[in-house]
Amino acid sequence: MNNSFSVDERGFYGDFGGAYVPEILYATVRNLQQHYLPILESQEFQDEYMQLLRDYVGRPSPLYLARRMSQKYGCRLYLKREDLNHTGAHKINNTIGQILLAKKMGKRRIIAETGAGQHGVATATVCALMDMPCVVYQGALDVERQHVNVKRMQMLGAEVRPVRTGNQTLKDATNEAIRDWCCHPQDTFYIIGSTVGPHPYPDMVARLQSIISKEIREQLQQKEGRSWPDYLMACVGGGSNAAGTIYHYLDDERVRIVLAEAGGQGVETGHTAATIHAGRVGILHGARTLVMQTPDGQIVEAESLSAGLDYPGIGPMHANLAVRRRATVFSINDDEALQAAFEMTRLEGIIPALESAHAVAALRKMTFRADDVVVLTVSGRGDKDLDTYLERLKG
Ligand SMILES: *Cc1c(COP(=O)(O)O)cnc(C)c1O
Repeated sequence: MNNSFSVDERGFYGDFGGAYVPEILYATVRNLQQHYLPILESQEFQDEYMQLLRDYVGRPSPLYLARRMSQKYGCRLYLKREDLNHTGAHKINNTIGQILLAKKMGKRRIIAETGAGQHGVATATVCALMDMPCVVYQGALDVERQHVNVKRMQMLGAEVRPVRTGNQTLKDATNEAIRDWCCHPQDTFYIIGSTVGPHPYPDMVARLQSIISKEIREQLQQKEGRSWPDYLMACVGGGSNAAGTIYHYLDDERVRIVLAEAGGQGVETGHTAATIHAGRVGILHGARTLVMQTPDGQIVEAESLSAGLDYPGIGPMHANLAVRRRATVFSINDDEALQAAFEMTRLEGIIPALESAHAVAALRKMTFRADDVVVLTVSGRGDKDLDTYLERLKG
């Protein structure tokens, strides 16, 4: 029995994970499984990746001791500032790594799925940087709702293909991207935006985001004289910013892990994206994980005010952390997240993304000791959410 919370050689985290892909993709996925680790661990890759993270993304991102919020919550609260990255969130850490990998594997074309457009923008950005053609699949409804990000992707040179099947949102865009991949398995690299999808994607994305916890270790050593916190906190959609935050502490029992998923209007209302609370075991987009579904296994649409957390699945790493109780998982409703966003803005002068505000809202569900060191990842900045925030201010 493997007691670690890391992935095993078959791509499983406990009972979750694996690679359930159509026959036609088997060889492509197998090829990726065989090549991703040797390439990611090579000196050449690491040199290029770290240089881009430093000079292009602007890393290391600061670890900021939030003085007024620390006072309010009675602990030593540090904010890990992924909101200060180029393009405004953690997603760029992953897309830079995947496009370098794609190039080293000889791929010539990039595809991606996007919901709100954040991952689409991060992918279009690195495709411009690397001069690669880029097709982004996005549900037609989201294309309408997220027109600013659509224009960004277009300005960056990507082709945005609206998907008109199903509910015309993220799940349908992902299905369409997988269909494209099936048609062009030789020359196309599929850049997935979170710790989801068939093995090796969850592990690959977690590794590419693990720069976050690598920096936390060094920064805490400097600021606190020890390399670990008492608590790590992050929001979870698919799970990538959380995976990056906890990566180097997964098996360190001194560190408690707190995850915040999107409750939407409330788990019990059914209008929710709280997959860990409301989901059952199933297979979604190539992995065995927790999935929001009807009794006969149809995927239920996720609902959250926050577009980045609006996914009916969850990364297999996080499903395992939750069922084995390594992580405490809170479901945070829309109104709690909104309130937390305003609180952080007024106490610290930092407008967080609505996704990140879910992690902030979890603070008030906890009790700390005064000397507890808490690190909370601010996954992105709130510029994209201003309309939502200001509507609330009026109402
Ligand atoms: C996409 C996004 C998320 C959710 O994705 P994860 O893979 O769970 O990290 C969270 N915060 C921001 C700012 C995002 O853009």
